[in-house]
Amino acid sequence: MRIGVLTSGGDSPGMNAAIRAVVRAGLSYGDQVFGIFDGYKGLVEGKIQEFTRKDVSEILNRGGTILGTARLPEFAYEQVRALAVKQLQRHDIDALICIGGDGTYTGALRLSEMGIKCIGIPGTIDNDIASSDFTIGFSTALNTACDAIDRLRDTSSSHQRCSIIEVMGRRCPDLALYSGICCGAEYIVTSQTGLDKEKLLDDLKKNRLQGRRHAIVVISENITDVYTLAQEVEDYTGYECRATILGYIQRGGTPTPEDRLLASRLGAYAVDLFHQNISGVAVGIHQNSLHYVSLKDALEMTSDRDVSLEELLTKIQ
Ligand code: ADP
Repeated sequence: MRIGVLTSGGDSPGMNAAIRAVVRAGLSYGDQVFGIFDGYKGLVEGKIQEFTRKDVSEILNRGGTILGTARLPEFAYEQVRALAVKQLQRHDIDALICIGGDGTYTGALRLSEMGIKCIGIPGTIDNDIASSDFTIGFSTALNTACDAIDRLRDTSSSHQRCSIIEVMGRRCPDLALYSGICCGAEYIVTSQTGLDKEKLLDDLKKNRLQGRRHAIVVISENITDVYTLAQEVEDYTGYECRATILGYIQRGGTPTPEDRLLASRLGAYAVDLFHQNISGVAVGIHQNSLHYVSLKDALEMTSDRDVSLEELLTKIQ
């Protein structure tokens, strides 16, 4: 086979491990594998290069993506995707692996509808792809967030402060929920819980009156202006309060062993599926087994996997 691989949308640590696995697994089948640079944008522009084994050496432990990534909103137009199809035909590429989030999956689904064999691999730090229990990059981002929150806890405790920490996860609560649990946050505010400001302020005030030296609030991005919230906490509760937005720090860094392993498994699995004549699907992990669902189903699925964690939170907070 002649297989293309691209990374698209927001980058995530472990994407390189997935690229490496696709290339190495393809070569082990006797395939030719082509790296496509800068996502769908590079595909449309024909930024395509055949990869050897050596081209993916020494990247397993590197964050980011050696292929680069870019956004091309115009890929929603059929005329633009037709240019991508032409490029694939020009290079005789008969199968395409797209690593990214749900935008990337939508692009892959649209290409599938135009006759291209596509497989999606979940690469996003937000863990917002419901067809996989975990996405490539989530473990690393969680580690980074926990490390930062632990550090902030040290200084919060010394100074008797309240720390509000904003983590990523626009539509998915997982980074806030997992990091909040792992770091013993007093409050976790996510897109699912919503922000009950009055209750938060009252509880924090009670905390302080009970003599608790500090408080940690972990909040998902896009919920409120955390700097304003910190000021409100100071005014109402008497805690000195600081807000920290972790931002893009969470996107980078050396991928954890969990992310490397997940990426290696999913990359090789995608190549296996092409050889079983399966395409138009998204691969993922469920209860530690590899599986696949159609790209369409993957995009329509919603997740209910965090219910048990929310229950846990009610017992240990
Ligand atoms: P992510 O894959 O991380 O969700 P984006 O939402 O930015 O990131 O999507 C990545 C790319 O996927 C976009 O820049 C665009 O090229 C492509 N894409 C997104 N939505 C669509 C769509 N509706 N139709 C075709 N392509 C899309």
